[in-house]
Amino acid sequence: MAVKPYDPENIFAKILRGDIPCSKVFEDDHVLAFNDIAPQAPTHVLVIPKGPYTSYDDFATHASDAEIIAYTRAIGKISAAAGVNEDGYRLIANTREHGRQDVPHLHVHILGGEKLPLMLP
Ligand code: 5GP
Repeated sequence: MAVKPYDPENIFAKILRGDIPCSKVFEDDHVLAFNDIAPQAPTHVLVIPKGPYTSYDDFATHASDAEIIAYTRAIGKISAAAGVNEDGYRLIANTREHGRQDVPHLHVHILGGEKLPLMLP
């Protein structure tokens, strides 16, 4: 089955355009991060690239080095700012159908703030 092209009507594209609001925790030229609307842990932040990438493999293949560096560094900065580094946290990037990805714009979940159950979210 072919991988679907980027859908500019997905909910995170709407957040990026400012069509729907979000609780922003970080933004730079390449990255936006905001609190998940249905948090699964005391800290539950979604980190997205601003470019139109559906998944991590799409991003790793097509994004510029500047975007990849900014995204990787942002995840580190956000976990530090959220105060979860010392006790630990989890990064998750659900991908397509088998990964149970609901929103088809790359997002990494940062989860922490308590000892997490084995499988989330
Ligand atoms: P996925 O299952 O695609 O990995 O995760 C999508 C995440 O996006 C879910 O955790 C869900 O709660 C979150 N989400 C869905 N719609 C919205 C929204 O409109 N605003 C925010 N902040 N989070 C959303």
